Amino acid sequence: MPINDPTTATPSEIDEELARLDIEHTKAQKTLLGLRKRRRTWLDDGQTASAAELEPRIEQASQAIAECEAAAQPLNAEFERRGGWTRAWLVLNTGGHVHRTTACRTCFATTQFAWLTQLSGHDETKIVDLAGKAACTECYPSAPVELRNRPSRIKTPEQLARELEKAERAKAKAAKAITAPDGTPLRTKGYGQIDTEFTARRSYADAVAYARRLARASITLHRDTIAAYRDDAQLILAALAAKHDRTQDDLRDELAPNVESRWQREYK
Ligand SMILES: [Zn+2]
Repeated sequence: MPINDPTTATPSEIDEELARLDIEHTKAQKTLLGLRKRRRTWLDDGQTASAAELEPRIEQASQAIAECEAAAQPLNAEFERRGGWTRAWLVLNTGGHVHRTTACRTCFATTQFAWLTQLSGHDETKIVDLAGKAACTECYPSAPVELRNRPSRIKTPEQLARELEKAERAKAKAAKAITAPDGTPLRTKGYGQIDTEFTARRSYADAVAYARRLARASITLHRDTIAAYRDDAQLILAALAAKHDRTQDDLRDELAPNVESRWQREYK
């Protein structure tokens, strides 16, 4: 996310944006190199018109590179202004180590890193604690031996984002879900197991309206069925009340219009 005022941003926010700009920059540079190479080939082949058609795209890529650099400049300046802060990178291969700099002499120019921007500005002891045996001995020579034997708990920003997404999905699902008040599945006689609040509300309205319909036809004849549907309505009402921490009367009032419209539409 673009940062309006670097002086009030956290190291993680600044580095996250720098990491994003770096990816954009690399992408634009790759595009530019490819386009220039193609233009060279076409010029060599004498296809001057086609080569000229590449110009706007070359200009666009150059522009993107310049924009990334301009956006990164105040962020890098802020890093300098604050006298720097801790940063950590994870080498992207199985058992990859965590380093305090990509210039670590145990790494190569071709080494692929994930910038652990969520750890920017964090105490190095905390980074080493999370990294455990993945902490680079060159970068963190003072890490205690007992930490070095622990498994790594380091996650990349992508992994963290995925976990957050998963947790949010689970939360959204839970918000839609319904169970019996004791947390067991909500089982009814007429509607089977009810898993969502949406179905619970609809089934409740149906159960009450249908019981009314049967009662109108013949209470004596349908006594057991009426009781079964009323039991279902009661079970559902209790589940809804427990979920929302509201009284059953309160919910009965709220659902009364639903019952009424079900009655009008289906059973009257
Ligand atoms: Zn290192």
